[in-house]
Amino acid sequence: MGVLQPQAGLHYPRSTGELRSWFGTDADCLDYLDWLRWPGGFVCPRCGHSGGWATADGRYKCEACGSRTSVTAGTLFDRRRTPLTVWFTACWMFASQKDGVSALSLQRSLDIGSYPTAWAMLHRLRSVLVRPGRDRLTGTVEVDETYIGGDEPGLRGGRAKGKKSLVGVALELKETRGYGRCRMAILADASAASLHPFVTEHVEPGATVITDAWQGYTGIEKLGYTRDRRSQRAARARGEDPGELLPGVHRVASLVKRWLLGTHQGSVDEAHLQSYLNEFAFRFNRRRSRSRGLVFYRVLELAVTHDPVRYGELVLNPQPKAAPPTPPARRGHPPSLEQPRAARPWRSDTGPVR
Ligand SMILES: [Zn+2]
Repeated sequence: MGVLQPQAGLHYPRSTGELRSWFGTDADCLDYLDWLRWPGGFVCPRCGHSGGWATADGRYKCEACGSRTSVTAGTLFDRRRTPLTVWFTACWMFASQKDGVSALSLQRSLDIGSYPTAWAMLHRLRSVLVRPGRDRLTGTVEVDETYIGGDEPGLRGGRAKGKKSLVGVALELKETRGYGRCRMAILADASAASLHPFVTEHVEPGATVITDAWQGYTGIEKLGYTRDRRSQRAARARGEDPGELLPGVHRVASLVKRWLLGTHQGSVDEAHLQSYLNEFAFRFNRRRSRSRGLVFYRVLELAVTHDPVRYGELVLNPQPKAAPPTPPARRGHPPSLEQPRAARPWRSDTGPVR
């Protein structure tokens, strides 16, 4: 199988104008998802057989077991109530805008029927961003914890935690190009029992882990890491600013807090904070992508291999503030076999791309 790099203007749109011209109808979107899901042709999800017939209702019939499958069945777009044209535009805004998009702004710009619908679309897109088995951070990695979350003005005393969540931050340091990738995860507390699994889950053994002198990191050497322990006392003795012991993770922590307060107006509850952290890390880790369209491509590529996410899974405790979603007014055009298709550049090269 040839492994090609996806190309702008061929495998993914370069601009909003190109997005509109490629994906004017749900049929265009389905065709693109079809190509992303089965780049080498239909493979039956029931029995694994390669090969089948397109049926009149737009599905595939497996030539071995006879089961029928639609392109979106078993993917993130399974049983969707929002047209794919709206989904694609939402995904484009989510992926191509520097700071992503809030549910309110998505609802307004796409004229989506209800806020919960827009909110759930973005959460479904966020849910595909963490692939199991993805690579851990390597080389030299700064690790620290920070509190993120809503201020509780009623609480007394500077140490009152309120609804803030403790978040572990890990960031690769590059010798030549500054910072590499980051990972963030909510921690139960700052004990070794929480911090050691955070390190082992996100950092490849063999890496040098830079931490402060906190005792929760004691013992990570035994897990296969070289610990570079930065002591505040030693920094003070050298006349350095002890607050700048771990400048990289502090930079990431301040960026993510600013993003939550800016783009999302601080309206992020604790139950969903992890998915926002994943979104931030996904975009941060692709900040040098030549094209924002490539990020759009990656998100859709993950979405067609991701299991469906039901609304109930998104709002499982705590209870949602908003009412259950209602289907938005139908937008776009219904798929039709008679509908003339726009040029489909991705079909001109049907080889799998990675
Ligand atoms: Zn089959």
